[in-house]
Amino acid sequence: MSPLLATASHTGPNLGAWLLLAVLAAAGYLLHCVIWPYRACRKCDGAGRFRSPSGRAWRYCNRCGGKGAQLRPGRRVWTHLKGIDRNRR
Ligand SMILES: [Zn+2]
Repeated sequence: MSPLLATASHTGPNLGAWLLLAVLAAAGYLLHCVIWPYRACRKCDGAGRFRSPSGRAWRYCNRCGGKGAQLRPGRRVWTHLKGIDRNRR
């Protein structure tokens, strides 16, 4: 058995590796939110408006203001982080 394998089996589940994986997943999600900051509005499914039963009248979705898009929570975190960075400089 190699020394590396011996230490790995001694500590059991490697907490450091799991922590690194969690950090990487979070960083990946944040990067994803930087490139694609919006998701379809949940209330109107990205349509931005609701049609009346007659089909001839419609109103804007008041959740997204008619844009049909919602800022993803990860993007909000990113904007917050950028704000902290700007204050420091
Ligand atoms: Zn909407």
